Amino acid sequence: MEYVTLNTGAKMPMLGLGVYGVDDTSPILAAFEAGYRSIDTASGYNNEEVVGQAIRESGLKREEIFVTTKLTNSAQRENTIEAEFDQSLEKLGVDYVDLYLIHWPVAEHYVNSWLALEKLHKSGRAKAIGVSNFQTYHIEAAKKVWSVVPAMNQIELHPFLTQKPLIAVCKAEGIIPESWSPLGGGANDVKNNMLTSKVVTDIGEKYGKSVAQVILRWNIDLGIVTIPKSTNPDRIKANINIFDFALTPEEIAAIDALNKDIRTGPDPDNFSF
Ligand code: NDP
Repeated sequence: MEYVTLNTGAKMPMLGLGVYGVDDTSPILAAFEAGYRSIDTASGYNNEEVVGQAIRESGLKREEIFVTTKLTNSAQRENTIEAEFDQSLEKLGVDYVDLYLIHWPVAEHYVNSWLALEKLHKSGRAKAIGVSNFQTYHIEAAKKVWSVVPAMNQIELHPFLTQKPLIAVCKAEGIIPESWSPLGGGANDVKNNMLTSKVVTDIGEKYGKSVAQVILRWNIDLGIVTIPKSTNPDRIKANINIFDFALTPEEIAAIDALNKDIRTGPDPDNFSF
């Protein structure tokens, strides 16, 4: 495993398990068994209890696991942020989370939501705080009021959506970028095109790695934390088996060049939930 140091000084694994749509403990336990120590959930995934149960069943110590969860849009709109955060801790069965994120920048609320997260951080129950789906203009608006710089911006990112300008802004602010849907998520056409790309297949052949493994390694080599989701034990194992090789600058550039600015998930400029 490789780690990134957050602006709090905490270390976070560069690769974790995304659990969107995971409704039982077995993939999470398989991930712990394979060496994962970071889990990405959200209040909106309705599976924080499942994650909590897996943490307890794993036999690992709380401090060995990096837990991320996220604030819903409805709690931002209804100003019930602290109550929802308390509920997340209760469902997870923990007394702190390692990282708490604003899931989506809800217009007219996200700046105040950031101030609420700063309070949770000061209370010690959210060891680090960050954002998700923030574009440059969201970061700039939050920057006007923040006294804590977001540790993380979790955004859709894969070879067909490389997000170079936003990544540059995050890096300039000291915000670590993290990729959601690193393998193209549930969009099968995009995922299939990406996972059969000749450029990436050729690179994989050189290292004896699959296309998915090369794409995940490309994230790591760019300094981007990533959280692929799988419920398949073999793919869970394969996705973490990427710490024994590294891409050359030319290979990284060749994957960068696949960018088509294609989103597979909602657009942060225009979402209706
Ligand atoms: P991913 O890009 O991680 O892709 C998951 C899909 O790829 C599943 O269909 C999975 O199927 C398949 N897959 C996994 N590994 C492999 C492999 N090695 N080879 C081929 N196929 C593979 O999509 P997600 O959208 O789930 O994103 C990951 C995580 O990011 C989420 O689980 C969630 O935690 C987070 N997220 C955050 C968002 C946000 O707004 N902040 C939005 C969306 C996601 P199978 O399970 O059968 O292996």
